[in-house]
Amino acid sequence: MTPAFALNYCFQCQLAPLYQGYRKAEVTGGGIALDETDTKSMESLKAPGVFVCGEVCDVFGRIGGFNFLWAWTSGRLAGVSAAKRVNELAGAGAGAGTAKQVTSP
Ligand SMILES: Cc1cc2nc3c(=O)[nH]c(=O)nc-3n(C[C@H](O)[C@H](O)[C@H](O)COP(=O)(O)OP(=O)(O)OC[C@H]3O[C@@H](n4cnc5c(N)ncnc54)[C@H](O)[C@@H]3O)c2cc1C
Repeated sequence: MTPAFALNYCFQCQLAPLYQGYRKAEVTGGGIALDETDTKSMESLKAPGVFVCGEVCDVFGRIGGFNFLWAWTSGRLAGVSAAKRVNELAGAGAGAGTAKQVTSP
């Protein structure tokens, strides 16, 4: 079980009794299942080359910053992973000499 999967499982168990409907919603459930995602990179297993994060994923938590934390951490991981992929493709391609290196902060 990956950390992201465990987080998702805990959040969903906690939030279920607190459901108050869409008008009061501060976070949405549903989205891309983590078991359809490589959680080491946030790359979609169904659509390789697509990196997902935040509310797009089927991860949601109770109010208190958990959703921001998920959005920021998964967003950074997805962004860094996508940048690495771009670098790999640039390095492997014929135009590698003109490609700029993408670095993470
Ligand atoms: C009222 C409210 C209160 C909340 N309070 C909390 C809280 O206290 N603590 C907490 O942890 N979470 C809270 N949340 C949840 C939290 O804000 C979200 O989980 C988090 O912001 C999700 O981040 P995200 O980047 O995935 O999506 P978003 O923050 O929704 O970012 C998506 C971005 O994509 C842009 N976009 C959409 N479509 C397109 C398009 N076609 N082209 C280009 N751009 C596009 C949107 O304009 C938006 O800027 C709250 C949410 C709401 C609505």
